[in-house]
Amino acid sequence: MGMPGRADDHRWSQQHLSHYVEGDLSPHARRRLEHHARDCADCGPGIRAMRALVYSVQGLDGLAGVRAPATIFDRVRAAGASGSPSLHGA
Ligand SMILES: [Zn+2]
Repeated sequence: MGMPGRADDHRWSQQHLSHYVEGDLSPHARRRLEHHARDCADCGPGIRAMRALVYSVQGLDGLAGVRAPATIFDRVRAAGASGSPSLHGA
């Protein structure tokens, strides 16, 4: 596999994952990152991880304007009450 610039693409993609998830990239840059992430074992999962991270941060930040995820709080409360994850059926 002698694709020139592939290592550069990977480094560039890693540096731009957060910008990509935040929608901060130009359409051209988004395409470049998507194209690379499609067959990169690091950047594909990296996008999903970064997206989860960014969304959780934005969720905390935007609680005033966004409906609170009640089920998440319920789950956190339930986990705190039982002291450990319930393993006997749900
Ligand atoms: Zn990569």
